[in-house]
Amino acid sequence: KFDVVTLGRICVDLYAQQSGVRLDQASSFARAVGGCAGNIAIGCARLGLRAAIVTATGADSFGAYVKATLEAENVATRGLRQDAARCTALAFASAAPGGAPDLVFFRENAADAVTEPAEIDTALIVSARALVVSGAHAASGIGADAVDVAITAARDAARSVVLDIDHRPSFGTPGGAAAVASRLTALIEAADVVVGTEEEWRIAGNAGSTIDALLSLRARSGAVFVVKRGSRGSVVLRAAIPARLDAGGVVPGFSVALCNPLGAGDAFMAGFIARYLEGAAPEDCARHGNACGAIVAARLLCSAASPTTQELAAFLAGAPASAN
Ligand code: ADP
Repeated sequence: KFDVVTLGRICVDLYAQQSGVRLDQASSFARAVGGCAGNIAIGCARLGLRAAIVTATGADSFGAYVKATLEAENVATRGLRQDAARCTALAFASAAPGGAPDLVFFRENAADAVTEPAEIDTALIVSARALVVSGAHAASGIGADAVDVAITAARDAARSVVLDIDHRPSFGTPGGAAAVASRLTALIEAADVVVGTEEEWRIAGNAGSTIDALLSLRARSGAVFVVKRGSRGSVVLRAAIPARLDAGGVVPGFSVALCNPLGAGDAFMAGFIARYLEGAAPEDCARHGNACGAIVAARLLCSAASPTTQELAAFLAGAPASAN
C-alpha cells in the first residue's frame, strides 16, 4: 500500500559546486538524484508519505547510485527497472548569476524515456492512493502509451491522478505546437489536479495567453488547475477562470533569498500532494507547495534540498509571506 506513485523522468543531476557561475566556468560537481518523478517521489517520502516510483535507469553505476539513493530516501523501487541496453539520464546544472539556471541534459539513449506499456506494473499503480504523471514524455511522444496505461488503471480504481505538465521543448515536439497541445489536453482531461507554470499552461492550451489557455482547457476538464508563478507563489482555480491571473485563487509565495530555482516546482508538487492526501482544500495544499518550493529555491540542490515534515512545519511557523 502506497500513498503516491510517480511515473516519469529520473536522472543524475550534477551540480556545479561554484556558485554564481555558468557551466563553462564550473570545475567540480556534486551529484544528486533528479528528474521530475525522482524529485517528487523523494519530496513526498521526506514529508512522510509512502512513496513508490515507476521509471528506469541504465544498468550502470549511475543507475546503482539512483537505486541506492531512492532506497535511502524510503522510496520503494519495485517499479524501478535497470535497462542494460540504455543509459542513466544525466543533467548538468549550475545556478548562474542572477539565479538563472544553466542546464544541459544528456539524454541520448536514456532509459527513463522508453517505458513501454507492458512494463507498467498496474498492481503497483493501483496500490497507491494517487498517481503523479508528467507531461514531458507524453508530449514528446515517447512513453506516451505507457502513461495512458497507468492513468487508465488509476482512474478505473478511483485513484487520484495528478499531472505535472513539466513540458520540456528540448525533448522534442513532434507534430509541432498543435500536436503537443492535443496530447497534453488529453492528459489534462484525465487528471484530477493539473499543475504547470504560466508558460506550460499556454503551451498546453496552444493559446496566446495563460488565461486564454486556461479558459479553453476549462471547457474540457473540471480538474483543479494550479499555476506556479515563481516568487509570486501560485494560483488555484477550482472552477471559473478569472479575467486575470491575479484576480482570483491567488496563494501568495514566501519571501526567500533565491539560490537556485531548479527543483522548486517538484518540491511544490510534493508539498501540494502531501496536504491533498490529508483532505485539505486545494488553496491550503498550494500554500504548503509554495513553502516547499521556496525552501528548495533558497538552496542549491533539488531533491537533496526537499524539506522534511519538521523543516516544513518550522518554515510555515516562522517565515513571513512575501508581499508580491
Ligand atoms: P518550476 O520550478 O516548475 O519552473 P516555479 O519557478 O514557479 O516552477 O516554482 C514552483 C514554486 O516554487 C512556485 O510556485 C513557488 O511557490 C516556489 N518558488 C519558486 N521560486 C521561488 C522564489 N524565488 N521565492 C519563493 N518561492 C519560490
